[in-house]
Amino acid sequence: MKFFQKTKKEVNKHQKALSELIRVVGEERILSAIEDRICYSYDATRQKVLPDIVVRPADTNDVSNTLKIASKYKVPIYARGAGSGLTGGAVPLMGGIVFDLKNMNRIIEISPDDFTATVEPGVVTKELQDEVAKFDLFYPPDPSSAAFSTIGGNVAECAGGITGLKYGVTRDYILSLEIVLPDGSVINTGGKALRSTTGYDLTRLFTGSEGTLGVFTKITVKLIPKPEKILTVAAYFSERDDAVDAADLIIDNNILPRTLEFLDQMTINAVRGYTGADIGEDVKALLLIDIDGTEGSISHEVPIIENACRESNAFRTKVAETAEERDAIWATRRSISPALYNIAPHKINEDICVPRSKIKEMLQRVDRIKTDQPIYIANFGHIGDGNIHVNTMYSDDPGQEELAESIVNKVMKEVVKLGGSISGEHGIGNKKSQFMELEIPSHEYEIMKKFKSYFDPKGIMNPGKMFIR
Ligand SMILES: Cc1cc2nc3c(=O)[nH]c(=O)nc-3n(C[C@H](O)[C@H](O)[C@H](O)COP(=O)(O)OP(=O)(O)OC[C@H]3O[C@@H](n4cnc5c(N)ncnc54)[C@H](O)[C@@H]3O)c2cc1C
Repeated sequence: MKFFQKTKKEVNKHQKALSELIRVVGEERILSAIEDRICYSYDATRQKVLPDIVVRPADTNDVSNTLKIASKYKVPIYARGAGSGLTGGAVPLMGGIVFDLKNMNRIIEISPDDFTATVEPGVVTKELQDEVAKFDLFYPPDPSSAAFSTIGGNVAECAGGITGLKYGVTRDYILSLEIVLPDGSVINTGGKALRSTTGYDLTRLFTGSEGTLGVFTKITVKLIPKPEKILTVAAYFSERDDAVDAADLIIDNNILPRTLEFLDQMTINAVRGYTGADIGEDVKALLLIDIDGTEGSISHEVPIIENACRESNAFRTKVAETAEERDAIWATRRSISPALYNIAPHKINEDICVPRSKIKEMLQRVDRIKTDQPIYIANFGHIGDGNIHVNTMYSDDPGQEELAESIVNKVMKEVVKLGGSISGEHGIGNKKSQFMELEIPSHEYEIMKKFKSYFDPKGIMNPGKMFIR
């Protein structure tokens, strides 16, 4: 556990801020005991830095009052949803205040007439999906963390997930935001209209801003009709390149699956070892394909998908129709994360994204970077979007961490050379800030920093994230 070392002056300021917060926001909304603060010191990156206090606002007013005080005393402030981020976004690197938004978790309105829902930021994504489904509506963004991550965190990271190929990512569903700026003022962007070309698109600017520009306190999302039926096809390959070809061929046949997921041999081996899944040793790559639509459209698409897989040398395909059969297939995908920890105790989980035509080449470059190095790399992910999770797994042995980092470094350079992005969905946080300038040219980087200093001139919102200079 790390503590951010403060100067005497900073300690004084923090104490003044704390007494003012107790007076204005109320003691019952503040946690300052060490055992409470420890619970807010980390996210899924396992970095740990202790905050000075935790504020648990009940409403926009509490958020605004806290930010006014933080701004007055220049105390760092870190918004936090479920803390499931994979790039360190919610970790309070410089101590200060953690803003726990989980208590602001009301679904304010579901409007079947407008196809919209308005929620507070602490609503868990799956809860929103389930609630709108009762109206036969569908909120498509579906990160694998949907069962515990919050809509606020999803908007801040512009979360992606398995449905991105057909339905897009979080930013494609955000219609309007209520945002409290670092000085405590409240702004509203967008509206309930499904289209607006009035002025600059502030909603898009803030979506993906990783808690560095302001705090979302109300979010209106777009909904679409719930597909009538979902069906899963699993396709098994003895060559990795064949699976990549099959993914291409499915799309070339004008089919846009709901999900098009890829697992390489290392990932499959890990899952087999962890779950005992019945996947033969001869399987070197696996595609998991969900299609949705009407009974008619699905029965039209299944044979096309199976043919595309067979034409690309799949030696087996399996179609799952019932919820139980689908669940059995998807259990493989869901178990990847814990299964990988059976290979090695540490992993660096990257979420690179390359143009679809470069996927095969990218995977070959990862192989070349690894060659004979004593380390494991498992690749899986949203192949339809070119968004691959390259997981570099390493042990506690001396030199392993450095080796893993140097491999990741080289992978990032290759991604950018192929015209890709260093982050398809997890954001930058502090874990990837060193790579930002590989992808973002210096002029554009400076423009981004100007936005940051316009909205947050005192630099109190999530300091230490996104930018390294
Ligand atoms: C097992 C697992 C699977 C995952 N799968 C996916 C996946 O498929 N796709 C994907 O994209 N991600 C995935 N993630 C990453 C993570 O779940 C997402 O980034 C998610 O959006 C984070 O939400 P959260 O509520 O946990 O946010 P946190 O981790 O608490 O915060 C993330 C960032 O959002 C900011 N933030 C939070 N709330 C607000 C707010 N109200 N206003 C302003 N800023 C805010 C924080 O300051 C921080 O910078 C996965 C993580 C895990 C552990």
